Amino acid sequence: MESDVLFKKGEPMPETFAKYFTGNAFLEMLTTDGVSIGNVTFEPSCRNNWHIHHKGGQILLVTNGRGWYQAEGEPARELKPGDVVNIPPEVKHWHGAAKDSLFTHLAVEVPAEGSSNEWLEPVTDEEYNKLP
Ligand code: MN
Repeated sequence: MESDVLFKKGEPMPETFAKYFTGNAFLEMLTTDGVSIGNVTFEPSCRNNWHIHHKGGQILLVTNGRGWYQAEGEPARELKPGDVVNIPPEVKHWHGAAKDSLFTHLAVEVPAEGSSNEWLEPVTDEEYNKLP
């Protein structure tokens, strides 16, 4: 597959998740054995909606490109390969690519009983376009 960098790029994000993204993303599930780990690739300017991981948090391991993580009420954090983001449960946040770069991270879902994801509103162009 052409754009594999480290792990497989996978297929276009399934519609069950794609509807919570602005722009095009790809997903390859690497494992669901005990812990769920997905390889997520965002095209330039692509980002997910604000969302909350309930009970179990999420860990992002950045493998390629340039992107952003932002928790509500905090400045956006620029991300590059090798960066690790620990997202505690119940924190409203989003993640995605920079406007001029692909961005790839592994998304590790921290196992917890009764965990769920709550998808919220999109990151508006006005908010997103303020980022360098
Ligand atoms: Mn998340």
